[in-house]
Amino acid sequence: MSNTDLSAALFADACEVIPGGVNSPVRAFQSVGGTPRFISSAQGCRLTDADGNVYVDLVCSWGPMILGHAHPEVVDAVAQAARNGLSFGAPTACESELAREIIGRVGPVQRLRLVNSGTEATMSALRLARGYTGRAKVIKFAGCYHGHVDALLAAAGSGVATLGLPTSPGVTGASAADTIVLPYNDIDAVSETFNRYGDEIAAVITEASPGNMGCVPPVNGFNAALRRLTTEHGALLISDEVMTGFRVSRSGWFGLDPVEADLFTFGKVMSGGLPAAAFGGRTDIMERLAPLGPVYQAGTLSGNPVAMAAGLATLRAADDEVYAALDRNADRLAGLLTDALTAEGVTHRVQCAGNMLSVFFTDAEVTNFAAAQAAQTWRFPPFFHALLDGGVYPPCSAYEAWFVSAALDDAAFDTIAAALPAAARAAAAATDPKDANA
Ligand SMILES: *Cc1c(COP(=O)(O)O)cnc(C)c1O
Repeated sequence: MSNTDLSAALFADACEVIPGGVNSPVRAFQSVGGTPRFISSAQGCRLTDADGNVYVDLVCSWGPMILGHAHPEVVDAVAQAARNGLSFGAPTACESELAREIIGRVGPVQRLRLVNSGTEATMSALRLARGYTGRAKVIKFAGCYHGHVDALLAAAGSGVATLGLPTSPGVTGASAADTIVLPYNDIDAVSETFNRYGDEIAAVITEASPGNMGCVPPVNGFNAALRRLTTEHGALLISDEVMTGFRVSRSGWFGLDPVEADLFTFGKVMSGGLPAAAFGGRTDIMERLAPLGPVYQAGTLSGNPVAMAAGLATLRAADDEVYAALDRNADRLAGLLTDALTAEGVTHRVQCAGNMLSVFFTDAEVTNFAAAQAAQTWRFPPFFHALLDGGVYPPCSAYEAWFVSAALDDAAFDTIAAALPAAARAAAAATDPKDANA
């Protein structure tokens, strides 16, 4: 066991001023238990915590850090931008540079607006879709996360098409009432819903390839079928690429599965670790936004020059070799996970979508949220903690994707390979808490 005294003290201190000690809930380690590690620095593929423990990072800030941490070209670009002033509340040239970089990679995006978070991007895209179509209802899929937008926090039960109920107190019935939650990968459910409510549906929003219920890629043709149904019924298709965008390829999931959505949302990789995100799409839709059109959307810090510099430097440094390294590293990690769990006889599936992956403790293919929830998720906390003790930092939830960087080196894979056998044994030894209570 590593020494975590300083992290524990910092966490206790944080809990006195910040609810739960964290500014985003998953960081609190609640589903795995134990002390969240307070990070003091990071370099390449390694994180160093407050106690001086070093970890191979398989979270990468939940996706953005494809180049690894403190990449010299990104740090230089950020430092130079900072020296020129942090924010002006007036336009700067770097905003169109980043917009042009993104537009050049994702064909259906003709106009782009920059915002500050993925949440803002999906919230704004949804408002625009409703403003454009004059319709209210939106279809989302259970297990897909689109940020903490009121209307999109509705996640509902599995299996049947359910009218959305708010899943967080504070989200009113009114703001969730127009959200229809359907099981992922179930095109019949989408088709039936369109037959019933077709002329009331403004948009279908989907993760281009979901990574927020673990990695659950679309079945062959699913995104294309969403495109066909939305077009038939005059609704918009919103492809949420906040996680996949510029990670799984230089054009994101669109580069692997070129379905022409009406609107796309981006975040994470596109701002290289600083807070910026974007939404974009067809000109005739995007020009309904203020100041050209009546759909209001704004932001004091939107298009922030330091964030633009980080994003541009990240996208420009991510050449073909970086994407090849990401794919190679994901394959290598998946292979190590499979070998170690197989050696201990742990039932599992490693599911991949491009270079994102996750581990499900089940033998059935996971194609939707209900299947992800049916896996033996209780094996995950001991698996997680054994990896952490072995100097590997995996995502702290069974429902999150694992993220590699191009900076992972042979020594990092040696660390992972050395930590895995104990982790696999811990997963094998785990018991279902339901059995303990029986
Ligand atoms: C992370 C994420 C968001 C939310 O982005 P934030 O920057 O955390 O607000 C939205 N959609 C998807 C698919 C994401 O992975």
